[in-house]
Amino acid sequence: MSVKITELCINCNACIDECPATAIVEADDAPIDTEYTYVKPEKCIECVDCTVPKCAYVCPSEGAIIWDMPYIEEFNDYYMSGDANGEYKIRVHKKKGVFSPANQPRPFRETISVEQRENKMAVEI
Ligand code: SF4
Ligand code: SF4
Repeated sequence: MSVKITELCINCNACIDECPATAIVEADDAPIDTEYTYVKPEKCIECVDCTVPKCAYVCPSEGAIIWDMPYIEEFNDYYMSGDANGEYKIRVHKKKGVFSPANQPRPFRETISVEQRENKMAVEI
């Protein structure tokens, strides 16, 4: 699964160094056309081993980081259609192929429901 950064981001970049999965890049380095810091969903592990998501812990802007869907096979079409429309740019490995949810599922927080994710709930700490 993943978290997602919204237009409420103020590009302070505080979250980038905090991410244990190196999933966050600043806007200029994002693989999509965006004005905001970007989370690579194929890398985000929702900080499942931590008490709270580390990016949200340091973020000064409420609502800048929201829950996205679990990065698992069930949501493969969701992420791949997002990839097709430019919302995401999922990594393609020369030998392993696309790091899609079906091919490379990531850990996610089962305590956050699909409904909360669909409602774009802010990641709270
Ligand atoms: S939830 Fe954790 S792994 Fe995901 S982007 Fe934030 S800091 Fe990185
Ligand atoms: S910490 Fe929050 S405001 Fe700063 S770059 Fe990350 S998401 Fe944006």
